[in-house]
Amino acid sequence: MKDLMYVSTRGGDEKVTASQAILQGIAANGGLFVPKSFPKAKAPLEELLAMDYQTLACQIFEAFLTDYTPEEIAHCVYSAYDKKFDTTAIAPLVSVDGVHFLELFHGPTLAFKDMALSILPYLMKTAAAKNKLDKKIIILVSTSGDTGKAALEGFADVEGTAILVLYPHGKVSEMQRLQMTTQEGDNTAVLGVHGNFDDCQSTMKGILTSPQVQAELEAHNAVFSSANSINFGRLLPQVVYYFYAYGQLVKAGAVKCGDPVNFTVPTGNFGNILAGYYAKQMGLPVGQLICASNMNHVLADFLTTGVYDRNRPFVTTSSPSMDILISSNLERLLAHLSGDFNATRAWMQQLTEKGTYTFPQPVEGFIGGYATEEESLDAMARMFRRGYTMDPHTAVAYTVYEKLKVGDATNIPNVIVSTASPFKFAPDVLKGIAPGKEGESQDPFALAQALSAASGLAVPEGVLKLKGKPERHRQCCQKEEAQGQVISFIKNTV
Ligand SMILES: *Cc1c(COP(=O)(O)O)cnc(C)c1O
Repeated sequence: MKDLMYVSTRGGDEKVTASQAILQGIAANGGLFVPKSFPKAKAPLEELLAMDYQTLACQIFEAFLTDYTPEEIAHCVYSAYDKKFDTTAIAPLVSVDGVHFLELFHGPTLAFKDMALSILPYLMKTAAAKNKLDKKIIILVSTSGDTGKAALEGFADVEGTAILVLYPHGKVSEMQRLQMTTQEGDNTAVLGVHGNFDDCQSTMKGILTSPQVQAELEAHNAVFSSANSINFGRLLPQVVYYFYAYGQLVKAGAVKCGDPVNFTVPTGNFGNILAGYYAKQMGLPVGQLICASNMNHVLADFLTTGVYDRNRPFVTTSSPSMDILISSNLERLLAHLSGDFNATRAWMQQLTEKGTYTFPQPVEGFIGGYATEEESLDAMARMFRRGYTMDPHTAVAYTVYEKLKVGDATNIPNVIVSTASPFKFAPDVLKGIAPGKEGESQDPFALAQALSAASGLAVPEGVLKLKGKPERHRQCCQKEEAQGQVISFIKNTV
């Protein structure tokens, strides 16, 4: 059988295998890799839905990663989805008072980024061996808070790799900051950048394409790759849990196999929700994908008007992982929907030059909405009284679900994708469920205990083990200085 090939969303002749796409991270012309066509899984839907998480993951991966052997895929899957997760379900579906939550925060860093970043290092190492790459792989990551820690955790002490994370200084939660600054591993580094996430992302892009940095890499026999959601190896693992959630609903009798289910996804870089679209293209009966934004609602506006316009103030919210104005994975959807890769390149060029573009056709299958800070807090309090504690990101999704009521009239079940543990954002969650308590301490661990007392949930291991750990990575710099820091990192680690 011929391999499924991957091409750039911005056109051109570049055509690579899955393993090359994962190694390279981004296409040579700046586009993102997408499969030439959407594959189907080997097993029929009913069988897929009855599988445990790992078996299901193997099936989905085999469909897309055709140049990996089934043994290689099984090795990656079983190494990633193991005891690191605090539940054997890996991604449990929790139903409270008729509301379904797909909990994606049971991995080591307490956010959904673990779903992909626990497996990416294995996919990448396998890809390096397959392509006989004998260079060191340097992973450069920009993070709004959660990706950084999940990537550090995944790549720490992985032989043949080194990782450097850029995060916006002062714009991540104290727990997120501590998770990163206490990271162990000789091949890890973390750098706070004065600016917001979009600044980190554009700084990183500048470094990735700088001839000076390139020369330094060559001199040290190293290459860059990406662990950001532009890497196809980040997107693919997320397809699995849409199938898994649907299967749980079928088992619970909440939906008949074949009938549609809607998903409401708290969205920032459009990676998570795009994986839902991929699941749909593979044959999962996904109804509407509801894109929930916070006050940085560039995506919700785009889905409503067809105009993407990043020319607006950046708002710092209590859902920092969604504080994004340039949503990189949307590019993949534009390419798939339009089928016109030259046009996609032109839209991305307009985005860079003018900060705006217009998509000329309806974005079918997606609905956008947004939540204000007050609405999210209020939703957190109301859902808490019904028996469930949501983190601020999940609360945005829940608010948008309540506001839009998509599918309610036709009784189509909805799944709220729950992306972070409330303990990652204890002060903001306390503000919602036990107002006043958030001000009783500055100490993140005391606040975690207060949240535990208020919610009845145990403080997760991932929080407890940070206490007393030395902060190894406290460096901060201006955007303009980041490149120099990256160069010294290359010199020192390779
Ligand atoms: C990253 C993240 C999001 C946004 O996901 P995207 O794939 O970037 O749209 C939402 N919630 C949490 C907690 C996250 O870490």
